[in-house]
Amino acid sequence: MLPSKSNYLLKNARVPTSLLEMKFLAPSASTVATTGTQDNFCAVDIEIAAGTIAQIIPTGTEHLSQLPDIPVVDLCYGLVWPCFVDMHTHLDKGHIWERSPNPDGTFARAIDTISADAQKHWNAEDVYQRMQFGLKCSYAHGTKAIRTHIDAAGEQGTVSLGVFQALQAEWGDRLILQAVSLVSLDYYLTPAGEKLADKIAQIGGILGGVAYMNPDLDKQLDRVFSLAQERGLNLDFHTDETDDPESTTLREVAKTAIRHEFSGQIICGHCCSLAVQPPDLVTETLTLVKQANIGIVSLPMCNLYLQDRQSGRTPRWRGVTLIHELKTAGIPVAVASDNCRDPFYGFGDHDVLEVFNMAVRIAHLDRPWEDWPRTVTETPANLMGLPNLGKIAVGLPADLILFKARNFSELLSRSQRERTVMRQGKEIDTTLPDYCELDDLLQVR
Ligand SMILES: [Zn+2]
Repeated sequence: MLPSKSNYLLKNARVPTSLLEMKFLAPSASTVATTGTQDNFCAVDIEIAAGTIAQIIPTGTEHLSQLPDIPVVDLCYGLVWPCFVDMHTHLDKGHIWERSPNPDGTFARAIDTISADAQKHWNAEDVYQRMQFGLKCSYAHGTKAIRTHIDAAGEQGTVSLGVFQALQAEWGDRLILQAVSLVSLDYYLTPAGEKLADKIAQIGGILGGVAYMNPDLDKQLDRVFSLAQERGLNLDFHTDETDDPESTTLREVAKTAIRHEFSGQIICGHCCSLAVQPPDLVTETLTLVKQANIGIVSLPMCNLYLQDRQSGRTPRWRGVTLIHELKTAGIPVAVASDNCRDPFYGFGDHDVLEVFNMAVRIAHLDRPWEDWPRTVTETPANLMGLPNLGKIAVGLPADLILFKARNFSELLSRSQRERTVMRQGKEIDTTLPDYCELDDLLQVR
């Protein structure tokens, strides 16, 4: 579809206004409302030169005479997005469903099943092949940066973090990969926990873990914040992935951050119980989260799958945190994949468009539309310390996704499997890896 030349013009593109950094344009000149919807887009022509976005010009502006003689691709008002940023995944757990399905779909059985699968199978080769499969899917779907949590306790941590480093190097020209250590927070009270913090510092990772309500939570949080502070590390926690209103680990993380005057970036993922707590407590917690400068990542697909699951009973709630209220409070909220074809989530393909599509349905992110494309692009990019990702601007690499859809309804009503993914101005092969690649590993043949 795209010319092989390094300079060309994408004509009649339509970009969500919130993803376009184009300060010199008056909004009234750049905004094109789609008939009958509240969609908010800019209609622009985008000049690509040597892999970079060279110019962004409002469609219809008399500019063609100013351009050199370059090929023109008419997108017919198709949507153009920046490449995705997937800031919460578990690549080390992915794609084990066939050999270790979750027997009843609950959170408790997911933990047991993963643990048994890891003990039996997670040597370096197994982890490498499954993580690599996930990266191939992500890349083909148009993702540019991924943060993955890695089960990091004991010898497994050494094996899996080693595999992560190998893949980070091998994919370095195509994907930005970040690793977070995943352990329960009591681990950091042990000598092994301190060693893990050293290892995370050594590989340039992020210190993380699952915060559970327990009598030692304060002590555990103090310890992990100290370990991070001493080593200049950022933090990324799993908090309150439960419907128990008594679970207030997000609040405790925020209080600890304020107490430590922590200056690094803190992310809290899930925060499901916030949605089932009394309004006064919610207001207090949001105030603390804002004061502590914490970014929140919601994982709607996994939450929908695991939360409120009881045998023989229809689920009553959707499991997600207070995405709208967090945003209204001025707290950055991202949306991400979480697990993929493992006991925590039996489906998925590392497609951030699917994640966004599901998030829109689950959390009503269609009111108003224009606020939400940032949740899978610019917001996670900023929270991951990648300020040049997740937006479209002159001077940035032409890492773009071209959809055969002209508005949000068209975008989110078909699979968009035929999207064009551009990296540095060139169309990439978007063929997905064949499931057969994992057959030997999963012993399914
Ligand atoms: Zn997670």
